[in-house]
Amino acid sequence: NREKRTPVIAGNWKMNSGSPAEASALLGGLLEACPKAPACEVVVCPPATALALAADTLRGSAIALGAQNCHFAPSGAYTGEVSAAMLTGVGCTHVIIGHSERRQYFGETNETAGKRLAAAVAGGLCGILCVGESLEQREAGQEIETCAAQLAGGLAEIPAEALAHVMIAYEPVWAIGTGRTATAQEANRVCGEIRRLLAERYGTEAADRVRILYGGSMNEKNAAELLAQPEIDGGLIGGASLKPESFAAIIRAC
Ligand code: PGA
Repeated sequence: NREKRTPVIAGNWKMNSGSPAEASALLGGLLEACPKAPACEVVVCPPATALALAADTLRGSAIALGAQNCHFAPSGAYTGEVSAAMLTGVGCTHVIIGHSERRQYFGETNETAGKRLAAAVAGGLCGILCVGESLEQREAGQEIETCAAQLAGGLAEIPAEALAHVMIAYEPVWAIGTGRTATAQEANRVCGEIRRLLAERYGTEAADRVRILYGGSMNEKNAAELLAQPEIDGGLIGGASLKPESFAAIIRAC
């Protein structure tokens, strides 16, 4: 079933390189280092302040543009938020939804992630829904039930017809930015469980088409082994997406 799915490598810059000078330098480095005709889809997600500049810089390249969050309302009194229409208007095609840092620091819940994802997809974006257990949940053997609850909430307003515009990123919180990667076998097992949960909700055929990415300290050294797993269809890359050579090497590992 793997053939049905084009791999995806997405870079999450988080709150880094958002000034025009830094963003230009990083985008220039990425355009130079990354393959011009990659075997996978490539997305970069800079901070909101760099999206317009990134859209200009990346136009005509093989790198698509994503944002790191979007609000569920189309407009209005939501200080500090950005809507799906604003993101498509600036040139985004993708958006990360429900990242664990949003959940941990900004009160994102399964319910709000679900509303954001629905708004993103309705607005024409491809949503990358992040799920994954904390260290505590992992140690208590609750990784699958945690992901199940995050999927149930996150996909609550996504009907089968919209599933083509959704990707899932399995990011165990204990592996994010820690240098501690899940083993390829373990990451593959959980991604397989996520696919099984998707199949329960949407049927096997639809679930087989969903790209499930792994995220959490993926780098140029461990990417090949992770990406070779049958249930892992790509990566959501934090730290290594800020280093053009590393990000390019991960793309080449696809
Ligand atoms: P990391 O971040 O690659 O730096 O661990 C991944 C993510 O948070 O998406």
